[in-house]
Amino acid sequence: MITFHTDPPVIPALPRRIYRLSQLAYNLWWTWNPEAQRVFSRIDSVLWEKTYHNPIRLLQQVSRSRLKAMTQDRYYLEFYDRIMRQFDEYMKPKETWFTRTYPERHDELIAYFSTEFGLHETLPIYAGGLGVLSGDHVKGASDIGLPFVAVGFLYTTGYFSQHISEDGWQEARYTRLKFEEMPVLPIKDEDGNPLTVSVELPGRTVLARLWEIHVGRIPLYLLDSDVDGNSPSDRELTSRLYISDLELRISQEIILGVGGVRALRLLGYQPDVWHMNEGHSAFMGLERIREMVKTGQTFEKAAELVRQSSVFTTHTPVPAGSDEFPHWLMDKYFGHFWPELGLERDQFINLARNAQPWGGETFSMPILALRLANKRNGVSELHGEVARKMWNFLWPDLPAEEVPISHITNGVHSGTWLARRLRVLYDRYYGRDWLERLDDPSIWERIEEIPDNELWAVRRHLKRKLVHYMRERAREQWLKTGVHPVQTIASGVLLDPYALTIGFARRFATYKRASLILYDVERLLGILNRPNMPVQIIFAGKSHPADEPGKLLIQEVYRVVKKAENGGRLVFLEDYDMCLGRYLTQGVDVWLNTPRRPNEASGTSGMKAAMNGVLNFSVLDGWWREGYNGMNGWSIGVEAEYATPEEQDAADAADLYSTLENEIIPLYYRERSADGMPGDWIARMKESIRTLSPRFSMQRMVKEYTDSMYFGAAPETESPAPKA
Ligand SMILES: *Cc1c(COP(=O)(O)O)cnc(C)c1O
Repeated sequence: MITFHTDPPVIPALPRRIYRLSQLAYNLWWTWNPEAQRVFSRIDSVLWEKTYHNPIRLLQQVSRSRLKAMTQDRYYLEFYDRIMRQFDEYMKPKETWFTRTYPERHDELIAYFSTEFGLHETLPIYAGGLGVLSGDHVKGASDIGLPFVAVGFLYTTGYFSQHISEDGWQEARYTRLKFEEMPVLPIKDEDGNPLTVSVELPGRTVLARLWEIHVGRIPLYLLDSDVDGNSPSDRELTSRLYISDLELRISQEIILGVGGVRALRLLGYQPDVWHMNEGHSAFMGLERIREMVKTGQTFEKAAELVRQSSVFTTHTPVPAGSDEFPHWLMDKYFGHFWPELGLERDQFINLARNAQPWGGETFSMPILALRLANKRNGVSELHGEVARKMWNFLWPDLPAEEVPISHITNGVHSGTWLARRLRVLYDRYYGRDWLERLDDPSIWERIEEIPDNELWAVRRHLKRKLVHYMRERAREQWLKTGVHPVQTIASGVLLDPYALTIGFARRFATYKRASLILYDVERLLGILNRPNMPVQIIFAGKSHPADEPGKLLIQEVYRVVKKAENGGRLVFLEDYDMCLGRYLTQGVDVWLNTPRRPNEASGTSGMKAAMNGVLNFSVLDGWWREGYNGMNGWSIGVEAEYATPEEQDAADAADLYSTLENEIIPLYYRERSADGMPGDWIARMKESIRTLSPRFSMQRMVKEYTDSMYFGAAPETESPAPKA
């Protein structure tokens, strides 16, 4: 048996009365419970901001006398006791949705693999939407009591932080993460050495050590190749996310897929369901087949067993986005592996051969995943359709609509994304157990009972808070780095906390068309600066460091942001991450999204905005095509296919400006009642909160995965394996 880490070693002894703060700091439960955050921030609110909301650093750095003083503060201690009681109740619940719904399934286990997890800003092991979804999925699984373990990477260098130079060029800065300041616990063997698994890479065996993060009730295990015994270059294999170099990438995916299975075995887990979140982890299926073949099973039988117990979620609606490897690379990395599966080289390659025009004969990770999982899904209704068409060639006998890929639309984790003030407000009107019934539409009907002025007061507070936060960030930047003054203006110091504010934050990839709203700059400048009806737009987002067109797009936006003619009403915020994501999706009035249809598989930031009372203004793509009902936000463009992208852009831009000028701005400014509140705007906001919050909650999503993917009907009948 493996002896696990015990007390976190890196927090100095705490006063006895509040010693459990360290336990709380090492369970991410606090990240989705705003009151629990205050147990830390009340100790020292300045330090709390300075450590970027990191309770471990806070407890390491705060003076012992301050901690001692806390133990004399009766109000603080009462608060501490209450939060610890809530934490204990959460960790050992009498019952959960899972125990009520599946009382006979308590011995089963779901293993969930993802290449990134977005859990909190202090754990920069995510790049964007996929990671945030994985993180939310784990938190949601914890909330409903699923028997669940997750596997991913602890990247030693994390994702980059973004700086924009004066001429708008994105600079990526990498820093080595300090694990001793993060809520990651090293797993050790009986002798106190790091517990490791090994995988075979060409000419050598590479070790990966294991770390654990407590995500509520769920353990998340992270692999890290920076271990004694590995060569210096192998120690760097897991240092970064999404490396472009194919050899590094395939090595990472072997560590995740093959090493991840070995890690779970070593820790004593025997999962019943294996979920691949995107194709990066698809080698897991090969490792599981290898295990069975080793015990005497035939390849066919083993593959069938793997298929029956595997789930694959695809997130990529464009073939070019698929993760694929050339055959020579497969020969190099898997030459030793296929004999262990009882296969010849060609049989092996055929498992995932992609001979499509776009592929140029590759080994495709999504094809491997589609072939090794009987349960397959896209992440929105439209994406399901797109995926069925895209992969139809694997089921040549079936019409596209019968291709066995279903869809489960994404959701977001309310505890993580809902503003504290709104949570307090909903607490008062929704009844005691609303947080357990987030996906129940009848709860959200009660939004109508909240008086307009109370809701509006919270909305105004959240916008002021955003503007204040931007100013403080700009001040920091000005103090520390002496940027050019125009960059300080570009980071939001001239924003008006009472003006209509539009947010656009996402990865800068060209299909997301961040510059669509700049299509006609003159017209836009006119809109921004109308007297008495000013409009301001906040942009944020990173581009993958190797994505030159994406970086050019940032530059294009930044150049317009810097123009004096916009009056400081266009803003670009550096370094979009979960913290900024929270401020923006809680603080703006309108959430803009302009992907080129149908390239946005789902999108999730708009869902975060919706439950906070922010109105969506988006192309009818991904989730918004399902969410929009004509009254709960606005659409951009129509559901059409265009001959050229240029035509599509022109049509969408024209529609965007006219809706903005004729509907959105007037609704916000003109329809004010005597008390200064825009009644019709608030009505639309309530319609948005009521209709969207339950449907796009993580609770709805994880229950749907549980019912239809993890413990659904027998798959053989509904999901034939694709033809090789
Ligand atoms: C929610 C979120 C995303 C994903 O949002 P999209 O709508 O899919 O673009 C990306 N990055 C961060 C930091 C987020 O919080």
